[in-house]
Amino acid sequence: MSFNIAIDGPAGAGKSTIAKLAAKELSFIYVDTGAMYRTIALGLLRDSVDIENEAELLAALDKIEVGIRYVDQEQHVYLNGEDVSPLIRTEQVSDMTSRSSANPQVRAKLTALQRDLAARENVIMDGRDIGTEILPNAELKIFLTASVETRAQRRYLEQAAKGGSYTQEEIEQDIRERDYRDSHRETAPLRQAEDAILIDSSDMTIEEVVQEILRLASLHKL
Ligand code: C5P
Repeated sequence: MSFNIAIDGPAGAGKSTIAKLAAKELSFIYVDTGAMYRTIALGLLRDSVDIENEAELLAALDKIEVGIRYVDQEQHVYLNGEDVSPLIRTEQVSDMTSRSSANPQVRAKLTALQRDLAARENVIMDGRDIGTEILPNAELKIFLTASVETRAQRRYLEQAAKGGSYTQEEIEQDIRERDYRDSHRETAPLRQAEDAILIDSSDMTIEEVVQEILRLASLHKL
């Protein structure tokens, strides 16, 4: 039996940074489900798919194969065999991801892949619907959030360090739009599972959040 930790929350709450560190401490596999949705979005962008056209979207999805592999304990995602991990973090891909991930067929394509990983390995899996839809029986569920201003500032500093040119206001606007879309879609909207523990990281350091998750995990028999 594997031990599963689900971490959900809005964009920029620090889920991936924190989940990665906690996974290392616990020797668990970190599964970034956002990267899988981003991979599909990149495929749709490359083929200039009109995602409002259901038939066109379904035909495009049929031709998209998402793969996941671990290289030096880092998750890499593959689009039809090509490692696209360095290409999926642009604002353009983020925007397409939050639009296309609202479609039930897009979600259905990734559900089995995510559940299968969690069944085989001890995982920390982050996303939007992990505690509510993908792993409803996860041993530990965290809902990680922070104020929209804090999240925008974090994302702004992150992209500025990489040479990005968006202003903090533009990023905040993008985050607000993504939050809205992610939590108002019909299929698997972002919401806190009833049995998830809420952590607001606005006034916490990364290390403090990691320690809190390790403490919560240690309450279970690993
Ligand atoms: O976590 P990340 O910011 O990489 O996710 C990008 C987008 O992918 C989210 O805004 C959301 O629309 C979608 N997503 C999702 N379900 C998940 C993970 C991500 O719908 N489990």
